Amino acid sequence: MVFALGLPLFLWGWALRWLVFWCVAGWSWAQGPVALTASGYVTDDSHPRYPGDFRTYPLTVRLQIHADLAAAILEFESGDGAEKEVDRYFFSQGLVYQVDGEGRAKAPGTLGDLAPSTLALIHPALRDLVLAAAPENVLVLNEEQQVFSCNNALWVWHPQENTATRRIFSDVLGDGEETIVYPTPTDAAQKVTVRRRGRDIASFQFEAAKPCPAFELPPNLYPNEPRVITVDDIHFTEQAPHVFTLDLARINTRVWVAEFESFLVVLEGAYSSQNCALLADQIEAKFKKPVRYFAFSHLHGQYIGGVRAWVDRGVTVLAPASTQPLVAQAVAASFRSRPDRLEKSPKGLQFEAVQKMKVIEDKQLRLELHNIDSDHTKDYLIFYFPQSKILGTGDLLFYRPGQPLKGRSKKLCATVQSLGLQVDRFICTWPLSGYGTQNIVNHEEMEKACQ
Ligand SMILES: [Zn+2]
Repeated sequence: MVFALGLPLFLWGWALRWLVFWCVAGWSWAQGPVALTASGYVTDDSHPRYPGDFRTYPLTVRLQIHADLAAAILEFESGDGAEKEVDRYFFSQGLVYQVDGEGRAKAPGTLGDLAPSTLALIHPALRDLVLAAAPENVLVLNEEQQVFSCNNALWVWHPQENTATRRIFSDVLGDGEETIVYPTPTDAAQKVTVRRRGRDIASFQFEAAKPCPAFELPPNLYPNEPRVITVDDIHFTEQAPHVFTLDLARINTRVWVAEFESFLVVLEGAYSSQNCALLADQIEAKFKKPVRYFAFSHLHGQYIGGVRAWVDRGVTVLAPASTQPLVAQAVAASFRSRPDRLEKSPKGLQFEAVQKMKVIEDKQLRLELHNIDSDHTKDYLIFYFPQSKILGTGDLLFYRPGQPLKGRSKKLCATVQSLGLQVDRFICTWPLSGYGTQNIVNHEEMEKACQ
């Protein structure tokens, strides 16, 4: 839509009406996606008929927010009947974007007098997601002022006044200021108003938030997809007696749980403290046993990432001696901008070096960690369960049906042979999808591919 410039005048009448908004009465964001609607208006002063003129477009706003994933969809509906139009924006990582007719991400346009940056902040819950998206980029000046950026604009958030302000500039009118006035969670009317150069340019009254179905966003413009999981992403698959995997499709990786009689061993991290703390909660709730050891295939971020959550639980970290300095550095690091549990209550690292091999065994399970020459990192652990003949291969195996293995995958063939491991199933940590590979490979398939 858009009201925008360049739109033939005759389209203006209906082309611009939107509105949107939300409501939330005392927004308390339970886990899971919620939907809100709002009614209100936006103005457009881009083509005045006389000085001070602007048009006003009534809008209905529909907002879906999944706070756990920092994702949202904003729809602004204007017009009636056959003239109804919907302008849709997507919100990810604290930024808004739009898509073209083919579903490809494109830079967001304005909505009447509302710039993309203002749209990204149009509801208090979105504002909170913007502030949380990269806390290291929020400059807290004092109790009353926090400076942050959003979609190429620099804002000052005033928590005590519940307003956000930015400077604006126009080639005709020069310097000015724009302010978003938010309600507090307890305000009876959940109204958000945007004021620019002393005039209200948009106002939306939101209804209460209600749970809604999960939604997916189209690919966005921004690199570094947030690698975040929610409780709904966590499912346990029993690969063999006492050997479980958690296939985390959303982040394309797999975590292992080995269940011994009186304790657990967790294999592989999942990028971050946040993800691993959630996994720790779910794993302990399911098995009702403490995690004694955490090990990971190698020192790349996806696998070591989250080690702090395990250290926080008092878990002993198993890794090659060469990896110890990195683990120690991660544990001692400042996480002030994104505090995890370890930041809030620091603990020392319990570390045990794995030389060639470490065996963990009781009456019900045997697990061997083999430190191998991988052609990938200096040291590398693979996980072998001899009773079920399962081998955890980390990110070494890229098996494409019908094709011979190459590189580090080929190297794995020789390693398994030289260690004399009997393997029925090779189970990858990564990738689960997206590379034309198969993430679980049986003995026959592997034998053929190794030739
Ligand atoms: Zn790697």
